[in-house]
Amino acid sequence: MVESKKIEQVNVRYAPSPTGIPHIGNIRTAIFDWIYSKSKNGQFIVRIEDTDRSRYDPHSEQSIFDSLQWLGLDWDQGPDKTGINSPYVQSKRKHFYVEAAEKLVKSGHAYYDDTTPGELEALRKRQKANGEPPRYDGRGRFRSEKDISNSRDKGLPIVIRFKAPKTGNLEFYDEVRGKISFNLSEIDDFVILKSDGMPTYHLAHIVDDFEMGITHVIRGEEWIPSTPKHQLIQTALNIKPPKYVHVPLIFGKDKSKLSKRHGAKSVLEYRDEGYLPEALFNYLVLLGWSPGDDTEIMDKSEIVKRFTINRISESPAVFDPEKLEWMNGIYIRSLSTTNLAQRILPYLEKPEKDGGFSDTIERPINSNLLIKIVPHIRERLKTLLDVKELIDFFYLESVCPKIDELVPKTMDTASTVKCLYASLNLIKNAKDFSAQCLENIFRLQAEKLNLKPGQMFSPIRISVTGKRIAPPLFETLEILGKEKSFQRIKNAIDMLEK
Ligand code: GLU
Repeated sequence: MVESKKIEQVNVRYAPSPTGIPHIGNIRTAIFDWIYSKSKNGQFIVRIEDTDRSRYDPHSEQSIFDSLQWLGLDWDQGPDKTGINSPYVQSKRKHFYVEAAEKLVKSGHAYYDDTTPGELEALRKRQKANGEPPRYDGRGRFRSEKDISNSRDKGLPIVIRFKAPKTGNLEFYDEVRGKISFNLSEIDDFVILKSDGMPTYHLAHIVDDFEMGITHVIRGEEWIPSTPKHQLIQTALNIKPPKYVHVPLIFGKDKSKLSKRHGAKSVLEYRDEGYLPEALFNYLVLLGWSPGDDTEIMDKSEIVKRFTINRISESPAVFDPEKLEWMNGIYIRSLSTTNLAQRILPYLEKPEKDGGFSDTIERPINSNLLIKIVPHIRERLKTLLDVKELIDFFYLESVCPKIDELVPKTMDTASTVKCLYASLNLIKNAKDFSAQCLENIFRLQAEKLNLKPGQMFSPIRISVTGKRIAPPLFETLEILGKEKSFQRIKNAIDMLEK
């Protein structure tokens, strides 16, 4: 007889707290969560952990979803979906936590505590003065039901605390680090339900992970020290723990915890600065995971195929903004011309004050023109934001070259004017205005004028683009067309002759 083996459905959750715009460390966790769920044909669940009302930021939730969406981390269950586990927002699930906390009180694993904030503060001060670590001393264990009800009548704040064992060891298995052992004497009676009726993170996520059938908790290493608390709650509630996968911290290059000072930005800032989502995704997945060989550039499907938990590293990852920029360039160059133009367009379309093209340039931006330009700038791009400065002259009616830039160091005004007049003639008489043909006649002309090609091309470039650094000259002239090229060179001559 063949027994069929039941394979457990993998459920992974990303459980951000809406306290700000997600930073890359946080989103790196979401990426791991997403990849793992995809690699196992499981469910990716997004749950908003908003029980800390003092740190709640109303704009944050939207930015979390915008970040996930932009990176293509589609979720199977979440606040905007009516999934089997809804609601997916903790502030809407209070009854689950109150019920669990009361159950723990009934079973003797937790107790009501009416210690006032003032008393807690006095305790902390005394411990500090004695050189002891600050921790709750368990005094609430000795409060009677009557004491608590008196305090309640007086309107004093009452919390529920978990009764943590004072001695012994607790072990849990982390899929990345193996067995981790904790001394229970380090854990005090911690709060599980606050006086505002909201649960703490410790209780809420345990209840939700259980209710939602989470099989794998993939989260940052900073949660390892709290995991014994979570295990205590699970044991007391008779809950089977999920598998724990703690991913390593991300450091800056100086080996300190990653912050803005290391060039790290929020995900939406990277979007606004012209990074491609697929590049950021690829880069972040390599912070703490490797495919086992030197491959670095991998698209999502390859990553999903190759992803295994046992290649997640224990040691901290180092965030390197230059490497991210490099990778972004590689992804930019791998896009087809039309695709790249489509990606660039929204950046140019934005109003000038938001970083788009000058407001004097007509909207919608001419995309056919952009498609002609893209092949000539692609190689230079590190971000999509680099484009604006490089190509705005194609779209402007006229440009304003600087006089001192028009005249090359090795030439004077008179010889520059002479060279520009010669160029005007060439342009006027050119039958074929293709880049190749223009290059041929301009090179010939340089020889005739006894100028090096670079000397001759520089004033032309500055005349037509207004810039020292611009796309290749003859392609630029071809795209600008005869009339605009002529007009701009003439304008430069006028400036020099004034
Ligand atoms: N809400 C927690 C956070 O934002 C989630 C931690 C966890 O994944 O368990 O860090």
